[in-house]
Amino acid sequence: MELTLDRTREAAAQLSQKAVYGHFIGGEWVEGDSGDTIALENPATRQVLAYIQSGNAKDVDHAVQAASAAFPAWSRSSSLRRQEILLAIAQRLRDRHFDYAMMETLNNGKPISEAYAMDVNWAIAQFEYFAGTPWHIQGQTLDFDDATMIVHREPIGVVAQIIPWNVPLTMAAMKLAPALAAGCTVVLKPAEVVCWAVMEFIRDIADLLPPGVVNVVTGYGAAVGGPLVTHPKVRKVAFTGSRATAQKVIENAAANIIPQTMELGGKSANIVCEDADVEAAAMSAVITTVFNKGEVCIAGTRVFVHAKVEDAFLDAFARGLASIQQGDPLDPATQLGAMASKAQFDKVRGYLDLAPQEGASIFFGGNAASIAGQENGYFIEPTIFTDVRNNMRVAQEEIFGPVTSVIRWTDEEDMLRQVNDVEYGLAGGLWTNDLRRAHRISRAMETGMVWINRYYNIKPGTPTGGFKQSGFGRESCLETLNHYTHTKSVVVNLA
Ligand code: NAD
Repeated sequence: MELTLDRTREAAAQLSQKAVYGHFIGGEWVEGDSGDTIALENPATRQVLAYIQSGNAKDVDHAVQAASAAFPAWSRSSSLRRQEILLAIAQRLRDRHFDYAMMETLNNGKPISEAYAMDVNWAIAQFEYFAGTPWHIQGQTLDFDDATMIVHREPIGVVAQIIPWNVPLTMAAMKLAPALAAGCTVVLKPAEVVCWAVMEFIRDIADLLPPGVVNVVTGYGAAVGGPLVTHPKVRKVAFTGSRATAQKVIENAAANIIPQTMELGGKSANIVCEDADVEAAAMSAVITTVFNKGEVCIAGTRVFVHAKVEDAFLDAFARGLASIQQGDPLDPATQLGAMASKAQFDKVRGYLDLAPQEGASIFFGGNAASIAGQENGYFIEPTIFTDVRNNMRVAQEEIFGPVTSVIRWTDEEDMLRQVNDVEYGLAGGLWTNDLRRAHRISRAMETGMVWINRYYNIKPGTPTGGFKQSGFGRESCLETLNHYTHTKSVVVNLA
């Protein structure tokens, strides 16, 4: 479908009915116990788009009980049934592809062309990938002289899933698809800042699922997330979000000794060697700076560029950013939209102020941006910091904005020491035409994912997750199913 500004503006007007979403519990939309709601806003205009319930412990208990009641039947459903449902869910996303992209754009501030081409397609890919997997959840047998052992692989039970606001629909899909494939039932807690598309998606798929298999409780983090993770009937938590929140979730998961998977932040290195295709490497830096306004856990926010090609790289990087069109997220020509919230806007501006204080230089951008017609929006210019040392806060902390730090290197060993001298380890990029060097460096990087000669080369089935404080557990792959299942060994005495 061709995206035009007229079409997106008309769709925005039609979508702005200011729906009030309840919690989705046991197949019904219900008002929350508190009666309070939270407004979802458009960060480009600050207009209210919809309302969600501000949940509490009573709502959580209601949802977990529904998920628990639905578990016995769902856990025994056939592989075929689960496959059919996952494919039907993917089809519902396809049916309203444009609407979902619009809702992500309006609520998150990301450009419509990006939401349409990436977010919704990634969500579809998760359901289609995991639709093939229920058939492959298998146990094993082991034979002895006097016994046979059967190892069954069984769904773990009710799972709590907590997701962030940067790519909400994709995140919901990454969580729901493997859980449903494995035969688990779910209580999903979306982020209170951006979740419009997720709520509408749940409304669209409600008739496809038996009541209670998927439940959604909305609200503030501690008010919903705390009771959810500590509920005695919850058997696992899958969390994506910040490291600070993860520490609280992990503490809460200790209450009932439940397993966790943690997809957390990153400060990923994008390494440019002197033999690389510098123009292509610079273009990757442009993309990772502006894609989703830099609100991406796997963004390559520390570029390590070899001194011999630094000038050429910076020239191409700055030229690339200068050609980026920032503006109304609804305009299909826009490539850089608005930060998702005031909190995120303020956080990024804080780092723009900090960089010169730390001794870094602002090579490009460096300010809040003013967009004609959207003067209230939370826009930040794409920004390059140079003269960065790896121990500066701008090189160590996750900024989550359209901001990239460039660090010069000459010695490979020293560069790799700096690349790994960070508490995160989520992703990374490497630009070289030397095959041996590509293998050597990628093996030395302490990170869960490395893309060689193309950043963001994301494919379904790629184990996705981090080293170090970027978390543990792997999503988007067959291993994910192990996180939603556990084994039972049955030994049959033959003597
Ligand atoms: P966040 O940690 O503030 O919030 C994430 C979710 O946790 C939200 O739903 C929030 O309401 C909830 N929450 C807050 N306090 C809670 C508590 N005490 N108990 C339980 N839940 C609670 O993170 P965010 O700001 O929404 O998201 C940005 C972060 O997410 C970044 O660090 C980013 O790198 C990370 N992220 C990681 C991945 C990945 O795959 N590794 C993907 C996307 C985002």
